[in-house]
Amino acid sequence: MLWHSNKAPTIERKYSKSILRYFRVGSHVGMTINPYQGCHHRCGYCYATYKWSPDFYDKIYGKINAPEILESELNKWKNSSMLPVMISSATDAYQYAEAKYGITRKCIKVLQQYQIPFYVFTKSCLIERDLNLFRNYNSNCFIVWSITTIDENIKRIIEPGTPPTQRVFETIKKFVDSGINCCVNIDPIIPFVTDSESHIRSIVDTCHKLDIRYISGSILRLRSDIWIRIRDILQLLGRSSSIEEYERIFGFQDPFANDNNLSADTIYSEKVINFLKDELSRRKIVFGFNKLIECITNTKLEYAISTKQCRMSEFV
Ligand code: SF4
Repeated sequence: MLWHSNKAPTIERKYSKSILRYFRVGSHVGMTINPYQGCHHRCGYCYATYKWSPDFYDKIYGKINAPEILESELNKWKNSSMLPVMISSATDAYQYAEAKYGITRKCIKVLQQYQIPFYVFTKSCLIERDLNLFRNYNSNCFIVWSITTIDENIKRIIEPGTPPTQRVFETIKKFVDSGINCCVNIDPIIPFVTDSESHIRSIVDTCHKLDIRYISGSILRLRSDIWIRIRDILQLLGRSSSIEEYERIFGFQDPFANDNNLSADTIYSEKVINFLKDELSRRKIVFGFNKLIECITNTKLEYAISTKQCRMSEFV
């Protein structure tokens, strides 16, 4: 699957039967909605690309009935509490298609109407359009901004459909100044591309200047299809010599045939993440956004998920 292309993706409507899903990432359990299928941001490292969605970057589907489905699903929960909802786990809810359809905005209005806490993951500046929606709900929501690099030469290669990082930081500033809780997620940290101390420090410094109080980060995980794109990225950046280093820290030999997510070894991961944590503690910035989740969970509602529900949940 080619992550880079000069052709704009097609944008189509589709009708969905359901929208609210459980998810689990590590020990974190929650609910998620994905108003779109596919993603215009074209990140080469994207975990949401699978064999069964070969046109992930090229065909974007807007789930046009998502707000109505969401409302009918929330009606079924009426008398029980709800986990905070993540928007979204497998697409960017504020990619360009949102300017055309406005599905995310409508879903957020439904969540607010039902007093459901939520948080948004995005790399987009289009979210500025909805600043007032978030400002009026700021004790019950927060935003996680995915920033992988502030080097535009690298960014145009690894995530060519995203806006420039400085432009995203301008958007973040508007949210911070409006009193909306924000976290910057440095994810993935790509070995031998964005993992240097100076690279990580430059993102942390910019966040510090903007008064961002939460930063998270994690190292790239590899799957066979992701490795094919990462290997191309290394070549485009003139860093093919790092391929052997990848084999060493991820413990494989090219060709890589593992369809599960493979983590980098502990020595490498701890070195990078501990460096990030040290930089944060020096600036009194909190690592991770668990506290923000606790905050919105405790504001209105309590966790009500049962073990049985967890077992039935969808894992993304
Ligand atoms: S923004 Fe997220 S979902 Fe979209 S391509 Fe990038 S990593 Fe994938």
